[in-house]
Amino acid sequence: MSKISMSVPIVEMDGDEMTRILWKMIKDELILPYVDLKTEYYDLGLENRNNTDDRVTVDSANATLKYGVAVKCATITPNAARVKEYNLKEMWKSPNGTIRAILDGTVFRAPIIVKNVKPCVSNWKKPITLARHAYGDVYKNTEMKIEGPGVAELVFTAADGTVTREVIHEFKGPGILQGIHNTVDSITNFAHSCFKYAIDTRQDLWFSTKDTISKKYDHTFKDIFQDLYDTEYKEKFEKLGIKYFYTLIDDAVARVVKEEGGFIWACKNYDGDVMSDMVSSAFGSLSMMTSVLVSPKGVYEYEAAHGTIQRHYYRYLEGEEPKSNPVATIFAWAGALRKRGEMDGNKELSDFGDRLEKAVIKTIEDGVMTADLARIAVGDNIKTVNTREFFDAIKSNM
Ligand code: NAP
Ligand code: MG
Repeated sequence: MSKISMSVPIVEMDGDEMTRILWKMIKDELILPYVDLKTEYYDLGLENRNNTDDRVTVDSANATLKYGVAVKCATITPNAARVKEYNLKEMWKSPNGTIRAILDGTVFRAPIIVKNVKPCVSNWKKPITLARHAYGDVYKNTEMKIEGPGVAELVFTAADGTVTREVIHEFKGPGILQGIHNTVDSITNFAHSCFKYAIDTRQDLWFSTKDTISKKYDHTFKDIFQDLYDTEYKEKFEKLGIKYFYTLIDDAVARVVKEEGGFIWACKNYDGDVMSDMVSSAFGSLSMMTSVLVSPKGVYEYEAAHGTIQRHYYRYLEGEEPKSNPVATIFAWAGALRKRGEMDGNKELSDFGDRLEKAVIKTIEDGVMTADLARIAVGDNIKTVNTREFFDAIKSNM
């Protein structure tokens, strides 16, 4: 069999610990035998980030802007303990934060569904994809504790010196105060990413805020989405037979648990934070959750939603055979290869992405899986395997 060829490289962002081990296994076992793989390689392992003063992270994000598709391995976000462990020059920032700041996108997280792992919500049949706005609101707030009586005001000084004020509250006694913001640019980018992702994946798009209470702040989100839909996306949605609909966040929550899934739920930053944890744990497991950053600049970065699986790595270093679940990382590769194929008109390559995903799902549905999944799977033919045995089973299904 001749290998599938590629014309444009994928940006490959290698990472840390157990996922770095899985990364190499995935390439060696599941991709290189079938694809004449072209990547532009960036080593985002903590050691190399430290050696390059984190320049490599910035370079990898810029390369993504150039080539359009990246696949990223999980990476350590250093804390004090890691600074000591790796003897770091400084506590480097989160690579995902750096990359997101350059690509300026929205993160879409979706569960990988298999028949023998049942969601807690019994009518969920298809994935629910959470699209979380990753800028502003309470994540970039200013807070005060108010000690006693006084007036709190919102004051805006325009560039020309004009001042606008609004009374927030006249305190009669102690209290608390918080200032938050967002920008039209960021919300617009968020909306573009959501509409584009819905078109790409041919799924309905839901968007929810609390605009009845927040008549300027949340209402601006609602208006920006609606304007863009009407002017740029309505026709494309109708052609594909998909819907955009807006509803209040509490109505959305009530409806989500009654639906069978198969749609994208766009949320403001805080709602998305809370709801993505609810949706992912209700679907089963973090090791079965994919994540893709979709940039309004038309570029894509695929990864797994979980971290570097530190505890497994220390056991691996002591000589234990790898037992971690590689599924989310395999899907990151499959997604990146499929997108590369779509962008380059390379059908063989995008079909390969599909085939790889199908082989993984078939393997699990046949009962062959790693221990983390075997714990929550149903059926009497469950066979618990280590990572290498899992790859062998996938290969025979390929
Ligand atoms: P983690 O890697 O998400 O793992 C936490 C626990 O979840 C593991 O110990 C394991 O449980 C289970 N688990 C997660 N993924 C699994 C998989 N594929 N297969 C089997 N079990 C899996 O979080 P962490 O170990 O607390 O964090 C390690 C590092 O990851 C941190 O330095 C953090 O900064 C980084 N991180 C990176 C990203 C990213 O790059 N996107 C995201 C999150 C965290 P058991 O031990 O019980 O088996
Ligand atoms: Mg959270």
